[in-house]
Amino acid sequence: MAQRVAVVGGGMLGMTLALRLAREGRSVTIFERSPSVGGLAAPWEIGGATWDRYYHVILRSDVRLLALLDELDLTSALRWKSVGSAFFIDGRIHPFSTLADFVAFPAVGPIDKVRLGLGILKATRERDLEQLDAVTAEEWLRKVFGAKLYERLWQPLLRAKLGDAYAQASASFIHATIARLFGARKNSRQREEFGYVEGGYATIVDRLTERLAEAGVRFKTGVDVNAVRRSGAALAVAYDSVSETYDRVVVTVPTPIAARICDALAPDELLRLRSIRYHGIVCASLLLDRPLGNAYITNIADSRIPFTGAIEMTALVDRDALGGGSLVYLPRYVDARSPFYLMNDASVQESFVLGLQRMHRTFDPSQIRALRISRAPYVFALPEVGSARRILPMQTSVPGLFLANSSQIVSGTLNVNETIGIAMQAAEAVAECATGHEEARYEAVC
Ligand SMILES: Cc1cc2nc3c(=O)[nH]c(=O)nc-3n(C[C@H](O)[C@H](O)[C@H](O)COP(=O)(O)OP(=O)(O)OC[C@H]3O[C@@H](n4cnc5c(N)ncnc54)[C@H](O)[C@@H]3O)c2cc1C
Repeated sequence: MAQRVAVVGGGMLGMTLALRLAREGRSVTIFERSPSVGGLAAPWEIGGATWDRYYHVILRSDVRLLALLDELDLTSALRWKSVGSAFFIDGRIHPFSTLADFVAFPAVGPIDKVRLGLGILKATRERDLEQLDAVTAEEWLRKVFGAKLYERLWQPLLRAKLGDAYAQASASFIHATIARLFGARKNSRQREEFGYVEGGYATIVDRLTERLAEAGVRFKTGVDVNAVRRSGAALAVAYDSVSETYDRVVVTVPTPIAARICDALAPDELLRLRSIRYHGIVCASLLLDRPLGNAYITNIADSRIPFTGAIEMTALVDRDALGGGSLVYLPRYVDARSPFYLMNDASVQESFVLGLQRMHRTFDPSQIRALRISRAPYVFALPEVGSARRILPMQTSVPGLFLANSSQIVSGTLNVNETIGIAMQAAEAVAECATGHEEARYEAVC
């Protein structure tokens, strides 16, 4: 009889993992709390158009994701475009894409510009990732870029992304961010090249769902798993008043939820799970009559603006895909217990629209066709100093129970390419566990 595996969480991680496991001959069931799969990559409707609830781009360096798209026969649906980026600083937006933009950038003087260029080069060549995990981003940025650049550019950017937690962030976080951004350029003269799949992540999630169904994977959507426990030699997945048994269970939900539902873990494992802090997001999607500008991303180094950045999706995506409108995302990454996260939609909307008017003097709220606010309590684990050393192994002390989520990304940023990497590692962990050797180890653990 095929091994029965439950995958808890139907995001990109759970789905790609389920596909691997099913193709290796296992009988797989996905449990997803929402009515449909996709998680953070799921689409939603705005102003009559369907696009990603949170902004997503693909980079040429996303090799695992590109391989998955190929496997899903979606390579021909990929679209690539060179897009610009910009900086909002000192009350003005400055283009920040090409060498010429960099030279003309008025916010830093010529000596600091040289230092900035050399520092970025050094960052992309840095290989001692263990050392980077041991120092704070602040310490490292001050050393590489100097105090002036740190205070003027980097600290506001760190604060924008991490809030007050920026002071505990490790240098490996900023290194990974720089490395990912520069992965989008072919050389220093060029603008970033970003990609997307026609129809957005809805196309990818739909195709994955089809392939999963063809591979025999069962979907249990709208099911909030509340416990995963040992049940004799098997594992029981509990929801509502139902309990189903499986040979293996892989929990792919964020760590705070995993700690709640996997209460049979050893006390020290639970302690480690509970010590991982997460940031959530409050994100506005705006469908506008006309474009704000031509940059895909405007980084914000100004504490008066209530959002972290402005992402104009239609600088990349054809506006026809959005009914002729311009789609803009305004994200703010925050702790899910913070007052801002708990603010009602009308207040968030008011503060974001005011912020947008402050950035774009010509922006008129009457241009807004539709505006929606989205929240997710757990988006990424805070990249604190030493977090690489505290990463949890996938195999837990409970035989057959595995944990796999984005907190296990080593020295990388949160993106689907890394997520697929974690799914592949989890598939390997499940396969290894099927051997007699692992079974013996389980006995020892118990
Ligand atoms: C604002 C934003 C921008 C991003 N931009 C990019 C980008 O440009 N490029 C890129 O590659 N990536 C980007 N990402 C990252 C990308 O979305 C993630 O890497 C990916 O979606 C993570 O998938 P996951 O399955 O690990 O997690 P999730 O998507 O969080 O999936 C977890 C799933 O578990 C479910 N769940 C939770 N609790 C339970 C329970 N008790 N029972 C059952 N189910 C449960 C949830 O409903 C969810 O569907 C972005 C993310 C955000 C938020």
